[in-house]
Amino acid sequence: MTEQNRTHAPGAASDNAYRKGCRCAGCRAAHAAAARRRRAGPPAPPADVPAGPGPIELSVMAELGKLPPGAGGFWGPVWRELALYDARLIDRAVATGEHNIVSTMQSRLANVIDRLVAGAPRGPEDTAEWAAWAGDL
Ligand SMILES: [Zn+2]
Repeated sequence: MTEQNRTHAPGAASDNAYRKGCRCAGCRAAHAAAARRRRAGPPAPPADVPAGPGPIELSVMAELGKLPPGAGGFWGPVWRELALYDARLIDRAVATGEHNIVSTMQSRLANVIDRLVAGAPRGPEDTAEWAAWAGDL
């Protein structure tokens, strides 16, 4: 196939164009590179990602431990896992400098926390109200 048979604009060679049938030199190179990446497996996490929980995840873990077992209702176990996952993503984003996603993840984490404490007293400092809501704590 010659350069005249390109299926894309000049300079837009890609593995995607290769899969659509283009066999120009750029697309063949892009396809070979994609195949090498697939063979190599998923990339290792960047070295600056903390191995264990970061400060947000640790904080969320501590607060989740104060919630009664039934918090969040039927979906409570899912909200707990999502809260931990969101917290982990925030810590990771901060560690890797991906600050553009932090604000979104903060909103998602706050939404999940709202679901966990829906119907609960506003804070555990109101001991009597909290105990009534939580049962025998
Ligand atoms: Zn091409």
